Amino acid sequence: MSARIIDGKAIAQKVLEEARAGAARLRERGIEPGLAVVLVGEDPASQVYVRNKVLKAAEAGILSFEHRLSTTTSEADVLALIDELNRRDDVHGILVQLPLPRHIDEQKIIEAIRYDKDVDGFHALNAGALQQGRPALVACTPWGCLRLLKETLGNLDGKHAVVVGRSNIVGKPMAALLLRENCAVTIVHSRVPDAAALARQADIVVAAVGRPRLVDAHWIKPGATVIDVGINRIEENGKSRLVGDVDFEQVKNIAAAITPVPGGVGPMTIACLMQNTVSAATAQHAIY
Ligand code: NAD
Repeated sequence: MSARIIDGKAIAQKVLEEARAGAARLRERGIEPGLAVVLVGEDPASQVYVRNKVLKAAEAGILSFEHRLSTTTSEADVLALIDELNRRDDVHGILVQLPLPRHIDEQKIIEAIRYDKDVDGFHALNAGALQQGRPALVACTPWGCLRLLKETLGNLDGKHAVVVGRSNIVGKPMAALLLRENCAVTIVHSRVPDAAALARQADIVVAAVGRPRLVDAHWIKPGATVIDVGINRIEENGKSRLVGDVDFEQVKNIAAAITPVPGGVGPMTIACLMQNTVSAATAQHAIY
């Protein structure tokens, strides 16, 4: 049996269309949704991410405001910019591209963003609201993973999900979202001795580890659905290539459905960012 390949690009396009429709509805009411993107430093991967976000914003009919700051910008200057963006009525969402240079405290910057403009969903108020099952701006990557699962499986009620990884930006919010969908949720991480044995019991496995192809055939129950969040650049046969946290070639013969890397979770993250920006603008103008 070969698994169904979950087409993240196609589903992301659908999410982007929804964001565009939402943005158009706001514009009919005289509101131009706006997203500020802040990049500090010259990290090449971050530059690519920022460029893609600005392009997708244009596609969704969202105005973007780019703020590119030099690597040596002080924490105080970044905080001053956040303060200005927090106050601007034309900015509904603020995204600070991570990682930040070492001399800047990431958590301090995230907490300085007005929680209702925190379209990355990293602010403690949004993370806490999600844990409590209250309305929140949800972190884009796990939000995108949930959408992929719902498009693939429909109702997730009662399914057993294992989330591999417990980071604040993927693993923990992913587990909270799955719980909200009435799954039985297990989180495994680097300190769990036999994580594979737990994952092997799951109907759904979401891998967010940052270890190339860690999740191989031994981790997967026949017929499970597998979402691969990992983006790892490796050198193989003299070539540089991107691979996930899942051993795609092995797991595709066991799982019922699997996301590829690239073309799975990646495109969903940006599309969900656009959806969050529209949601933020809608909430800020109290339109429900
Ligand atoms: P992280 O380093 O913050 O967390 C990794 C987690 O994996 C930790 O909780 C750790 O305990 C766990 N882990 C490590 N080794 C393990 C093992 N052997 N068994 C079980 N668990 C183990 O990483 P992150 O920020 O959550 O990112 C994870 C991956 O997802 C990375 O490859 C990252 O590039 C990718 N990512 C992709 C997107 C996207 O848009 N597709 C977004 C965010 C992150």
